[in-house]
Amino acid sequence: MEKVSRIEDIKIIPDTIGEAGLEKDISVAPGVIDKIFNNEDLKIESPFSIHYVVEREKDSEKIHARIDVAGEFTTFCSRCLGPMKYEVLLHLSTDYLPASPEMSERLEEERISSETGYYRRSISLGEYIVSELVLSLPMRYICSPDCKGLCSHCGLNLNTESCMCEKPTDPRLQKLAALKEKIRR
Ligand SMILES: [Zn+2]
Ligand SMILES: [Zn+2]
Repeated sequence: MEKVSRIEDIKIIPDTIGEAGLEKDISVAPGVIDKIFNNEDLKIESPFSIHYVVEREKDSEKIHARIDVAGEFTTFCSRCLGPMKYEVLLHLSTDYLPASPEMSERLEEERISSETGYYRRSISLGEYIVSELVLSLPMRYICSPDCKGLCSHCGLNLNTESCMCEKPTDPRLQKLAALKEKIRR
């Protein structure tokens, strides 16, 4: 199992892709992942694993890459603030075509879709993995789709406790209740 000190360092030299393709397993230390996100609320406790297969299309300059990324974060639920695990499981697939002369040196920025990238002397597989990893993360982490969150009045965790605070009522129902009250008088 290969190790890297930066995911961006994962590069492939097209000339080294043989008939059978190229396959590799890479272990990425928690500290390396930490540097990408630089987020105190995302803790990485165990290494991420990257597995890739790169193949050249027959009689063509087109190179196809399949990449699996697996790992786990520890973070906090944004509804109930409880600790939670967030599993990262990415199955990426992209083609690489030879870059045209007018393209810049920053070939990852020349991508027009996540499915087609470009190469010259080397393929920047790592840069692609980093950008897809960043894009895959949600805006908010929720521990479970039916997390009840905290009571907005007393702050109790409604997943484990129930409180006596009044439930917020629908304003339409409040009007109806007021109307009934009037009729009764
Ligand atoms: Zn929650
Ligand atoms: Zn309450």
